[in-house]
Amino acid sequence: MPSQPAVNKARSSAGRLKGDQCERDWIWDRAVETAPDDERFAAASAAWDLQFQHLLKGSEFYSRKFREAGIGTAKLGLADISRLPFSTKDELREAVDERPPFGTNAGVGVERIKRVYQTSGTTGSPTVIALTLNDMETWTSIGARTYYATGIHEHAGVLTTFGAGPFVAGHTHFVLTRIGTRVVPVAPGDTTRVLFALQAGLVDTLLATPSFAQYLANRPESADGNAASRALIHVVTGGEPGGGIPAIRDHIERVLGVTVTEVMGIGDIAPSLFGECPSQQGMHFSGTGHVWPELIDPDTQEPMAIETGAVGELAYTHLTREAMPVVRFLSGDIVRIEGTSCDCGRTSFRMRCLARRDDMFIVRGVNVYPAAILAVVGEFRPRVTGRARVVRRGSEVSVQPPVPIEVEVPAATGLDAALAAEIEDAVHTRLTFRCKVELIPEEAFGESGYKTKLTVTRP
Ligand SMILES: [Zn+2]
Repeated sequence: MPSQPAVNKARSSAGRLKGDQCERDWIWDRAVETAPDDERFAAASAAWDLQFQHLLKGSEFYSRKFREAGIGTAKLGLADISRLPFSTKDELREAVDERPPFGTNAGVGVERIKRVYQTSGTTGSPTVIALTLNDMETWTSIGARTYYATGIHEHAGVLTTFGAGPFVAGHTHFVLTRIGTRVVPVAPGDTTRVLFALQAGLVDTLLATPSFAQYLANRPESADGNAASRALIHVVTGGEPGGGIPAIRDHIERVLGVTVTEVMGIGDIAPSLFGECPSQQGMHFSGTGHVWPELIDPDTQEPMAIETGAVGELAYTHLTREAMPVVRFLSGDIVRIEGTSCDCGRTSFRMRCLARRDDMFIVRGVNVYPAAILAVVGEFRPRVTGRARVVRRGSEVSVQPPVPIEVEVPAATGLDAALAAEIEDAVHTRLTFRCKVELIPEEAFGESGYKTKLTVTRP
C-alpha cells in the first residue's frame, strides 16, 4: 500500500502536475524504495541464495550452464555473481526450442504457469514469457512502484494506449487497478478515441509511446486552449526512448501543456521496471528485492560501478522469479546513470536509456547513439516534425561518414535544401561527425505514428 510522509511540505509543482501528484515524496513501497544500499544488498543476497538453489534444482538450462562454466553446486553469493556467465536472448530462445513450449528454463511445472505473454519480436520471431501467480504479483508490485513514482496516484484518470495483450505492456492494466486509478483503455494508435476521451474529460493522464504523444501534439485538436489539451496534465511515455530526450519532451510539454515523465520495462524481466519521478531527472529502478541490476561495459563486458555519469549496458538477474528466471541477462539497453539519490527520497539509481546496443554504431572510433541525433534534429521544430532515422547499409558497426539521416518535415516546410544543410552543420558541431540529411515529407516517411524505428537498414 502507498505510504505518505508524515508532513507534506509545500513545494513547487513540476509542469502542470497538481495537488498530491506533485508531491515527489509520495512513495508506494516506502520501506523498500528508500532503504539504504547495505539494507537493499542484504535483502537481495538472501533472496539470491534461495534463487540459486531454485535454479540448480528447477532449471535444467541454468544448472547445465553453470556446470559448463565450472560452477559447482556450492553456495555462490550475490557478491560473486559476476563469476556466472551472461545469458543472451538467443540462448533463452534456444532453451525454448529445445523443449517447447516453455523450454528447459521453465523453472516450474506446466501446471503452475498461469499467464503467458508473447514478446513483440523486435529482434526476431516472438518469444514466450511465462508467469506463475507469484510472478504476476511481483510484476504488479514492481509496476505499482514504477507508475506511482511517475506521479500517477489514486485520483488520476488514466488513458492507456498500451494494448491488453499479447504483449507484456498489457500488464499495466493490473498495475493501474492496483494503484486504484480510473482507467480508460484505448487500442494503440486509436487517435479518435484518445481525442474523444480527452475532450470529454474522461482522463487527465495519458500513457503512450513518445511517438504517439508527439503525433498527438502535432494535431490541431491538441492546440493550446482546446478541450483536449486543457484536460490533460500528465503524459507518461514508454515503449521506446524519446520521453527523456529534451527536444522531444519539451515539445510535448509545451504544446500539450503537460508534465512528461517516462517509464521503461524489459519483457524478459518486468514490463515496468523503471519510473521517472516528477523531479524529471531520469528513471528510478523499481525492481529492488526482485531483480538484481548490473551495469556492464559494452566493450569489455566487465561489470562497472553504478555511479553518476557511467554509461553501460544493463544486465539483470531475477531474485524471486519462479517461471523462466534469468541470470545476468544482457538486455541490450545502453543507459547513462543520472544519479544514485533523489529529492523524492528514493534511493534506487536513476538512468536514461541512450539506445539499443544494436542501434549504436561507431563513426571514426566514437560511439554514436541514434537518440542523440534525434535530440539535435528536434531542435529544428517546427520546421521538422521531430521524427528522424539513421540509414544503415549492411550490419557493420563501423560507419563511414557522411552518415545518411532521414528527417521528416511537415508539408508547410517542403524540401528546403538550406534546412538540410543547417541540420548537417548542427550534427557536425554537436556530435562531431558529418551526416547527409534527406528531408522526407510527412506522408512519405511511412510507419504509424505509434512507434518509430531510430535506424533502418537498406541495401
Ligand atoms: Zn526521484
